[in-house]
Amino acid sequence: MSVKSIRKGLHRLVGGDPDDAATCNFCGAHRSQVARILEGSGGYICEGCTFAAAGDLAARDAAEGRAAATTFHVVSLVLQYVDARTPHAGLEPVFDAAIALVEGDPSRCRVLASHAFRLQAFARAGEALLRIDETARTVADSLAALAALVTVGDRPAIARVLAALDQVDLSELHRLQRDVHQGWAAYRLEASAGPTFTFDGASLGPIVERLRSFDAPASLGQALEVAAAYERTRDRDAALRRVEEALGVEDKASRQLLRGDILADVDPTASRASWEAALGLAHPDSVWAARARARIHGARPRS
Ligand SMILES: [Zn+2]
Repeated sequence: MSVKSIRKGLHRLVGGDPDDAATCNFCGAHRSQVARILEGSGGYICEGCTFAAAGDLAARDAAEGRAAATTFHVVSLVLQYVDARTPHAGLEPVFDAAIALVEGDPSRCRVLASHAFRLQAFARAGEALLRIDETARTVADSLAALAALVTVGDRPAIARVLAALDQVDLSELHRLQRDVHQGWAAYRLEASAGPTFTFDGASLGPIVERLRSFDAPASLGQALEVAAAYERTRDRDAALRRVEEALGVEDKASRQLLRGDILADVDPTASRASWEAALGLAHPDSVWAARARARIHGARPRS
């Protein structure tokens, strides 16, 4: 993807006050033509030119063998500034530059992963966290990596992370969290080829109940979501209660998608509304948006 095409994509996004005189000093785009524009002491720079500049700076520093830490900080600031809905294709050069600059430094890897999670660039989040050497990887790093890897379906990487976690003496909360991720991997990736993640769906009930005693709402929400996924073919009402509770913890695209799936046969209107909600919550380029669009398209009566 060229810088020119990145700019073209960004310029289609509308933002700012069209009466404003601000134009990007680098490409000449008006504020109304770009997603965002930054004001500096001597003028303006648009989001697309910021991405391009960060990529150029990183490439130049790498070629000159300069220390990566400062450049990483700049690239990281760019990612922090990026609008959450920026097309992923436009961010590829920035992520490539950032990945090349982490150099296995655990704190840089974590910073990059947190940006990637915010932008729903799950493959990049997993990639960043797996750059942390196994000896330096914390349980929290591994669990976050699992969350990203299950979303993108990277079975070999999931198997490696789970195997490394098996060597660690986990606290009860971490063990429950690991089991939830393993259950999610087993549920989502069961049918396809590759390593299998054997998991008994019936054990999710006790896991959910144990998680209630911890102050860990995000994990409880995820456990409820995974339990709903397992229960939907056995007990639709129980699955619906679980997913509604998970949505009460946090409204997430994956949960709205699942709610829509659970309701598909009994309440097509509510089902469709959930899929639409999933599409509204997901980054347009994310796996969740792709799934939501496929459901909505499939549900539409043919005319
Ligand atoms: Zn520009």
